[in-house]
Amino acid sequence: MSKKKSYRLHGHYCKICGEYKANEKFSGKGHAAHICKDCSKLSAAEKEESQTLTQLMNLNVGRLNDSKKKWLENRVHDRRPEVSALAQEIYNMHFPYAERNARKNSSESIH
Ligand SMILES: [Zn+2]
Repeated sequence: MSKKKSYRLHGHYCKICGEYKANEKFSGKGHAAHICKDCSKLSAAEKEESQTLTQLMNLNVGRLNDSKKKWLENRVHDRRPEVSALAQEIYNMHFPYAERNARKNSSESIH
């Protein structure tokens, strides 16, 4: 019975950039907050945007429950262009038919 934990190989997770970094990339405070030293230098708005993008990337895997779907839908209409573009991409991946219907509906008004 040898159950070795493997988290040491991956270091510590940063919730802002979504990367696993070595423990020395985190300050004591950043460790608890899951924010690496690089990301802690960002402004509050930049942190929030980066974290949102990370959360969107995490939606790539697995099924969406209702609350995740709602959150993703809201991000599609986010005022930050990077966030809404990525959200749209991920939304289309999860709901390819929704995109097709939206295009069909809007094609008449565009031309
Ligand atoms: Zn980071």
